[in-house]
Amino acid sequence: MDYAIGCDVGGSFVKMGLVERDGTLKARHTTPLPRFDTPEQLAVWLTDTLMEFYKKNAPDGAVLHGVGIGIPGPVRFPDGTLFDPPNLPFEGEIPFGDLLRSTFPHPLFIDNDATVQTLGEARVGKGKGAQNFIYMALGTGIGGGIVMNGQLYRGTLGMAGEIGHLTIDYRGRKCLCGSRGCLETYASINGIANTLKEIDRPLPEEIRESLENGQWSRLPGILKERIDRGETEWQEVWDIFADALGAGMGTLINLFNPEKIVISGGLSHLSALFLPRAIKTSRRYAFTRPAVACEIVVSDLKDTAGIIGAAFMAFESGQT
Ligand SMILES: [Zn+2]
Repeated sequence: MDYAIGCDVGGSFVKMGLVERDGTLKARHTTPLPRFDTPEQLAVWLTDTLMEFYKKNAPDGAVLHGVGIGIPGPVRFPDGTLFDPPNLPFEGEIPFGDLLRSTFPHPLFIDNDATVQTLGEARVGKGKGAQNFIYMALGTGIGGGIVMNGQLYRGTLGMAGEIGHLTIDYRGRKCLCGSRGCLETYASINGIANTLKEIDRPLPEEIRESLENGQWSRLPGILKERIDRGETEWQEVWDIFADALGAGMGTLINLFNPEKIVISGGLSHLSALFLPRAIKTSRRYAFTRPAVACEIVVSDLKDTAGIIGAAFMAFESGQT
């Protein structure tokens, strides 16, 4: 039987899965990412790790079609060149695809992690069957992907789909990307931290500490707990999040007239706090008919979209 390896290279961990052609995840494994001085060392380690995983999990007679890798940050597709990867200790233009292809004995494809997750949603998730849909992963920032006419839309350099950097307020908050008023400066974990910093009343100690120590990923959970306990004033933080997200989704609906917007990422399990209001807001910013025609849904793939999508990238190499 035909298999592909799907791999998700994060800042601290590497996740991998053995995937069948119908999208079934046969085996999966997560391993810490050691620190390397050069991209060459990383390529050798990744090749060894993936091949070891394959040998351990592939049944007799299995055929390895190839490997797909998702990685955060700008990636040029299909050659797999990375531009200043934000989660790896290397700067500049890194020919990571070429390096890996020189060490890996099977066909290999690399793309941006959110693009790869979009493909996973398209094949086995909430995007399945949709000709046109938008994918948004709400986490530390916002990852995005676009499917048009049943195909991933990658753009001229393969770098399309940066929905987190949609300008929703041209005089707004400064973004890490150097621009201003990007959607993710409001509707992400970083956005929540930005909103809390702007509140002009004393903050509870656990919130102040998390802000000061850079433990921003704790903030959404802290806010939810406090709201659940009856401190409803914290809903205001989620309302700002929701209004920004709604404005962004309204713009996307006007631009693409999609069948669906699929919401995923670490914050999607808190969608009850922001999604109903964001959907209402999106209808204020979008034309009525495309807004009504667009279903806004939460992904149910949890954290497997990246692995499965990366494997499909390998299966469909040249066609995606
Ligand atoms: Zn930005």
